[in-house]
Amino acid sequence: MGAIVTDASNTPSSSASALAAVEQEILRACTDARRDRASVTLIAVSKTFAADAIEPVILAGQREFGENRVQEAKGKWPALIDAHPGLVLHLIGPLQSNKAKEAVALFDAIHSVDRTSLCGALAKEIAAQGRHPKLFVQINTGEEPQKAGIAPGDADAFIAACRKDYGLEISGLMCIPPVDEAPGPHFALTAKIAARNGLANLSMGMSADFATAIQFGATHVRVGSAIFGHR
Ligand SMILES: *Cc1c(COP(=O)(O)O)cnc(C)c1O
Repeated sequence: MGAIVTDASNTPSSSASALAAVEQEILRACTDARRDRASVTLIAVSKTFAADAIEPVILAGQREFGENRVQEAKGKWPALIDAHPGLVLHLIGPLQSNKAKEAVALFDAIHSVDRTSLCGALAKEIAAQGRHPKLFVQINTGEEPQKAGIAPGDADAFIAACRKDYGLEISGLMCIPPVDEAPGPHFALTAKIAARNGLANLSMGMSADFATAIQFGATHVRVGSAIFGHR
């Protein structure tokens, strides 16, 4: 459910119509869950796509975008942001501490806070630059060894440390469920950890499962291939 089949040709008109289809599916999921459409932010994940593939999606009205690499984003977004005021850029991929400076300068939200050394680097850059990107702690709900994120059992202590030891304001949680499992229990677990830590935002749901994520309370869905086509 919630999967959107798109033609993967990535022409400007196909990405704009794919965006409209995703938008409709979000609206339907919100209606089913008795949620306000305004409570869900669509992040169009443009990783691997060049500026000329992204621009039609901006022109179709999309304002929030996600990238998973700082270097790649630095190469294409500053010019797009200049040309289209009001864009909001999210970092959804892993962040190395030595890229914290560039990440704080470019991104409006960082969804991959997952270790205390990164908290230290972010706190320093936030203070130095006076920019305050929204911060999401990534939870490794499936406890997969190859995946980034805090184990569910360590989440409460980590969030407390972010707040107390580093003075960071945490906006919410992010998760990426294991590919071979039903996502619902992972979304539910993430929502439960957020609720008991007083966190309002939940970054969860991708092309294959964003409707399910909305059912479980997602406030930010990260949708790539359903809009831009296959990578
Ligand atoms: C690539 C990516 C997405 C988007 O995935 P699609 O399946 O293409 O929608 C979402 N979240 C993260 C963290 C990603 O790296």
